[in-house]
Amino acid sequence: MHDDRSTVERRLHRVLRERIEPAVYSDSVPLDVARWDVQQDGLPGEPVPVAEGLAAAYTACAADVAWGPAWGTTWFRVSGEVPREWAGRTVEARLDLGFDRNLPGFQCEGLVYRADGSPVKGLNPRTDWVRVAERAEGGAHVELYIEAAANPVLIHHSPTAQGDRLTSDDRPLYRLARMELAVFEPEVWELVQDLDVLGSLMEQLPEDGARRWEILRAVERALDALDLTDVVGTAAHARAELTRVLAAPANASAHRISAIGHAHIDSAWLWPLRETVRKVARTCANVVDLMDDHPEFVFAMSQAQQLAWLKEHRPEVFARVAKKITDGSFVPVGGMWVESDTNMVGGEAMVRQFLYGKRFFLDEFGIETEEVWLPDSFGYTAALPQIVKLAGNKWFLTQKISWNQTNRFPHHTFWWEGIDGTRVFTHFPPVDTYNSDLGGHQMAHAARNYREKGKGTRSLAPFGWGDGGGGPTREMLARAARQSDLEGAPRVTVERPSAFFAAAQAEYPDAPVWVGELYLELHRGTYTSQAKTKQGNRRSESLLHEAELWSATAAVRVPGFVYPYQELEQIWKTVLLHQFHDILPGSSIAWVHREARATYARVHDELTALVDAAQQALADPGSTGTLVFDGTTGTATPAPAPALIPDPPVSLTVRADGGHVLDNGLLRVEIDARGLIVSAVSATDGRESIAPDGAANLLQLHADFPNTWDAWDIDEFYRHNSTDLVALDAMTAASRPDGAAVVEIARSFGSSQVRQQLTLRPDARMLEIDTEVDWHETEKLLKAAFPLDVKADRSAAETQFGHVFRATHTNTGWEAAKFEICAHRWIHVEEPGFGVAIANDSTYGHDVTRDVRPDGGQTTTVRLSLLRAPRYPDPSTDQGTHRLRHAFVPGATLADAVREGHALNLPTRRVPGDRPVAPLIAVDGDAVVVETVKLAEDRSGDVVVRLYESLGGRAATALRPGFATSTVTETDLLERPLPDAPPHRLDADGPLRLRLRPFQILTLRFARHSGN
Ligand SMILES: [Zn+2]
Repeated sequence: MHDDRSTVERRLHRVLRERIEPAVYSDSVPLDVARWDVQQDGLPGEPVPVAEGLAAAYTACAADVAWGPAWGTTWFRVSGEVPREWAGRTVEARLDLGFDRNLPGFQCEGLVYRADGSPVKGLNPRTDWVRVAERAEGGAHVELYIEAAANPVLIHHSPTAQGDRLTSDDRPLYRLARMELAVFEPEVWELVQDLDVLGSLMEQLPEDGARRWEILRAVERALDALDLTDVVGTAAHARAELTRVLAAPANASAHRISAIGHAHIDSAWLWPLRETVRKVARTCANVVDLMDDHPEFVFAMSQAQQLAWLKEHRPEVFARVAKKITDGSFVPVGGMWVESDTNMVGGEAMVRQFLYGKRFFLDEFGIETEEVWLPDSFGYTAALPQIVKLAGNKWFLTQKISWNQTNRFPHHTFWWEGIDGTRVFTHFPPVDTYNSDLGGHQMAHAARNYREKGKGTRSLAPFGWGDGGGGPTREMLARAARQSDLEGAPRVTVERPSAFFAAAQAEYPDAPVWVGELYLELHRGTYTSQAKTKQGNRRSESLLHEAELWSATAAVRVPGFVYPYQELEQIWKTVLLHQFHDILPGSSIAWVHREARATYARVHDELTALVDAAQQALADPGSTGTLVFDGTTGTATPAPAPALIPDPPVSLTVRADGGHVLDNGLLRVEIDARGLIVSAVSATDGRESIAPDGAANLLQLHADFPNTWDAWDIDEFYRHNSTDLVALDAMTAASRPDGAAVVEIARSFGSSQVRQQLTLRPDARMLEIDTEVDWHETEKLLKAAFPLDVKADRSAAETQFGHVFRATHTNTGWEAAKFEICAHRWIHVEEPGFGVAIANDSTYGHDVTRDVRPDGGQTTTVRLSLLRAPRYPDPSTDQGTHRLRHAFVPGATLADAVREGHALNLPTRRVPGDRPVAPLIAVDGDAVVVETVKLAEDRSGDVVVRLYESLGGRAATALRPGFATSTVTETDLLERPLPDAPPHRLDADGPLRLRLRPFQILTLRFARHSGN
């Protein structure tokens, strides 16, 4: 037979697009349109309450009117009458705000209301219809209101001033495209879905297979049966020709896909937080509306924060969602407050993501979420499996690692093992997207791509337009239904994520194991972009530690002191929201980061006030003495008398080259005439830390213009160009009254200036480096280098409740791809017997490289990424002044690194008072760290303590509660008793003896004697 395949395929394509799809609506009449623009002082105004929008003074306008300066809101009122001759027909309103079909979620959107203010559904490029009547009444009056948001299109990766309403312009961005009532033809719509599914399946089938040709001939017969001048009248004939090929059952070995409705809504990104509140309302309104018509539809929603917004701002939509949650079709997943970044979020904050996220779902709906849902975050730390499990979760989902630039991940379903040995059953959807359309191409890709074939049979596919695209559509559900049991296609079942995970784990209990972090080989710039956002996060995490510690101590010790439960919970939720995976990583528009800076300043003030109140209550103000509060130990001790301090002072001498030597008997540091550290010798071992001919604290400037994702990416070639900043404007040295010696250095480069203070205090084993940069570069990366005379094959970087090792060499592609790595408060390199740590107060990006010198020794170079200057999406990212603090610790063990990391972030505070404070909780030894002391969330007054083994070995410790307590219970992260935990007994006045496995996190809950 002659091969006419492509002729039939092209015929299908043209007839479907040009004749059948347009016939879905057979008749239409225009609606009358009136508008009201929200304005404040002649500028586009912020959103107004619904009642205000409905009651506004509307003016009539054309159905194709231009509207919408960036970020403006326009309310449209559309009204009309159903023509008498449409009686009994299905009628819909078609409301096109001027959509670009190709960009659902990244442009204008609307929420439709009835005249009484009740929300109907969202308007998006792929859902621009509102059902008026299944069987219309002729002459019926229709009146709808649309709250239309003129969100500018910012997805095009070019610098723009439109990313903030303070800098955006006032030209209208959109023009209404269609406002009409129309007759909907269900049979034609079904024919479109039949042909769409068969056409896209056909393209995926082998050309030499019979199935492809059977479908091709059926499609041909269907097109033959269709009268193009009467599509409505002949659609049923065409469908009849397709019945047999649509009824052919799936192959016995067909891959199984659990399709789960979803809408990935970034909590802020190319729009501000306030717009996410509206995006959530629009999408949720769509979802519950679609559920009313499709009882088989299941939708999963993560991020408790988004449902909390819905409850607060759109209670009517929330009530409908809550009903669907009770029915089981709307499924909360993820158990986190937001889909946070995980690279940079601190240990306790990661706990609180789950604590407050899971508690919201429990309190509101009585639902214990069990699957962690992080499809889009930029890599996953090796500490997560333990945190995930201790929060009561069983399963983990992401697809982001499919974005790796270099290495293809070997598994789609596997056990993921963390630093402490905890394993979590994990799935990466092989569909490689969290916005599937369930089309034939994507379904075939998932089946082909799935790497567990022969062992496992199933994968998960989240489907729906995200980011305000409206979520799943009726067309997607039609695709799912047709592919439930279809020859040549995977079996698609719409079901709950837990159903997928339970079945996947049952069929594949011996899935392979992946140990360690899930490093994303992309977006490495997110450890550095938007330095002030990162600093705000770190400061807030540290202040929250202090506020809880001192408030708990005061609540236990000071009669009448009230623990600020409500304030702490509110602040935690604010901090957790800003850990969202486009805020903390620095990948949002200028507006988001401008607001974040203001929010962090407010949080700083609120937390400082809480710390002050608790410390003053403890210190007994009004007395004449001074107490030093230490947040790392939970103690307050009398400040040493001034006369005792400077003895012995740090010696400060001049080098032959004009540089300076600082020596406190413990550490001797030489700074040369260029202001660089050329020697650092710790007295305990007399060992030189700086590599021969090396110079530390060397600032290096790199060109930094990545190929695609400006704020997100550092591409490897940045290293090809580097300028050492060695020219000095000025250098001075001085001894301070407190006995410290300080060298001050000033440099300028490009349009920027940097001032550094290098401080050595008496009794300190580390050099403090305080850097102030007035940064006015573009597309540059500023690094600080420390070439060390250490043979380190790996670096240790702090992560949540522990640390992670990474190779310093580049033997394999996996190791080479980690050319930029994330560390929390410290990074450490060592050879047996000697190590060096560098602690930071807000730097997360690092790189560590190695080299062999001509003298045979080895140099390990640790570099810190201080600042970047990408121009998209925020064109002025990081411009201005920054203050960054570091501690350079020669001769440091891992325990020193842990201690200095905590100390740098928890500076002591001097408070008037005479009453010393003993710690509420004390532990023995270096290995076990008390990370958190607080009162229980249930407000019972119980003391909750979270500690962990910090060195990666087994540890025994004696814990001494500094208060009267009767029972102690080991709990999960939600402070619920762990059913299989060993009982802990407290002997009278004796310590609690604890044994921890490497990196184990232990949460203990102490009941307090009444009266305490
Ligand atoms: Zn995202």
